[in-house]
Amino acid sequence: MKILIDNGHGKETPGKRSPDSTFFEWQFNREIATRVREALVNEGYDAERIVTTDEDVSLMERCHRVNAVCQQLGRKNVVLISIHANAAGKGNWSTARGWTGWVAKQASANSRLLAQLLYDQALLMGYKGNRSVPPTHYWQADFAIIKRTLCPAVLTENLFYDNAEDLAILKSETGKSNIVQIHVDAIKRYVNDFMH
Ligand SMILES: [Zn+2]
Repeated sequence: MKILIDNGHGKETPGKRSPDSTFFEWQFNREIATRVREALVNEGYDAERIVTTDEDVSLMERCHRVNAVCQQLGRKNVVLISIHANAAGKGNWSTARGWTGWVAKQASANSRLLAQLLYDQALLMGYKGNRSVPPTHYWQADFAIIKRTLCPAVLTENLFYDNAEDLAILKSETGKSNIVQIHVDAIKRYVNDFMH
């Protein structure tokens, strides 16, 4: 199983920072993606980032990179996670908190399964937040990176960087290491328990 990790946005993507400019989403996404990949590789998994530079790589190009791997290995042998942090205040502080995982509206059963496994781990970390949670434990939207890619795909929104309490978690080593762990544990369960 090839595990592809996307860290959405680049250095020059506008916005995507905390209201106090102490947190930049592109940087956070890359740090988490790098650590998730390292942890998986150290445990013998085949994990790779699809963007390893700081610059923004267009969504179309990122989808293309994923789909090239799917065509080479077969879509059932590939899985994609796109790592993000959320915002709701349009540049101002927000009251929204918590972890969400997203699949496309027409997502495959495997995408939904992986999203549920991720949510289970986020709950264990206490990151439910204060928003209503669908009974499925995943959220659905046709974001390009999960809609236009051929393999099972989930986009994770790891807490809100425009909420002061969530932001403190996102900036702490404990918070970052918990978020890495959510991804690593869910991917391992997906690969070991369900992909035979
Ligand atoms: Zn994002």
